[in-house]
Amino acid sequence: MTARLHVDLSALTANIARVRETVAPAELMLVVKDDAYGHGLEAVVQTATTAGVTWFGAFDVRTGTAVRAAAGDAARIFTWIAASRDDLRTAIAAHLDLGIGDAELLEELADAASDAAGAPRVHLKIDTGLHRNGVRPEEWSTFVARAAALQAAGRIDVVGVWSHIAEASDAEDDDARAVFERALHEAEAVGIRPHVRHLAASAASFARPEFRYDMVRVGAFCYGIRSAGGPSADTLGLRTIARLEAEVVAVHEETVRIDIGAADGLPSSLRGRAMVGTPAGARRLGPVGGAQSLVDAWTGAAVGDVVTIYGPGGSGEGTATDLAEVIGTIGEEIAVRVSPLIARVYT
Ligand SMILES: *Cc1c(COP(=O)(O)O)cnc(C)c1O
Repeated sequence: MTARLHVDLSALTANIARVRETVAPAELMLVVKDDAYGHGLEAVVQTATTAGVTWFGAFDVRTGTAVRAAAGDAARIFTWIAASRDDLRTAIAAHLDLGIGDAELLEELADAASDAAGAPRVHLKIDTGLHRNGVRPEEWSTFVARAAALQAAGRIDVVGVWSHIAEASDAEDDDARAVFERALHEAEAVGIRPHVRHLAASAASFARPEFRYDMVRVGAFCYGIRSAGGPSADTLGLRTIARLEAEVVAVHEETVRIDIGAADGLPSSLRGRAMVGTPAGARRLGPVGGAQSLVDAWTGAAVGDVVTIYGPGGSGEGTATDLAEVIGTIGEEIAVRVSPLIARVYT
């Protein structure tokens, strides 16, 4: 297979610096779910650690333990999906921070805590409207009172209060923030003083300072992936870090065949609608097959010519988000579906 994903780790470092300077004095939590958005967890975490990132957002416990291995003991690693009691025990042993948005899970966590590992660090999650595993506002005061009692008994250490917002419309986000503010007040009323309050992801962390609180959880912008329908990476001061390319494996009369297809993560719905970069400039992507696809030919096309699906450094190509917009999705969706079998090449 000739397809490969080039990842520019110095561009990642530059983006991290750009995000940190934008959100300061709030801290950056670098979100590394889905194999660091398809760029490769280990290389991303090591680069970020060298760049001074101390917080990672790891989604599940399995990812959290992988981050622990790559980032070392000092890193703070936030996971927000624990599926089982075993998961909780693994998380406690690896000193992960746990996002908890469920009263039963809070009890299970307190039960699973061991004297050896100390009280597990907890970030309490309020549901501010997305209805994804958070405590509903009407149940919040009971929840935080219980958390305060468990904390007083030394069984948990409440370090954070957080939520997640859609970032689809300012009005909806404003409503979510009002719920978040009330939740913070109610937590304070029972004696909970979180060190880290966090609400915003990429878009709101840049556009809306009042959403930054103590920390922002940013994935897409650190990888140079702009929001669909949003300002360009350039405008945001960010660089695209990845380039997906494949070689020409056969030359036909009107098309060339390239060595990447739907099984490698190329959406077949891009057929006829996306432009890709070739040595002769932009050409239209044709039918996307299982393992190979067709591209409109150019004069002098030869086996071994490199075609750029997205990313900088080729010619005439767009970004992951440009491709995403063609089929009505987001850039992350394009990035994370690049098959793990495609080699990641780091520079
Ligand atoms: C994915 C995710 C983020 C990061 O979102 P981006 O838009 O990629 O910055 C932040 N918080 C949570 C809970 C997430 O799942």
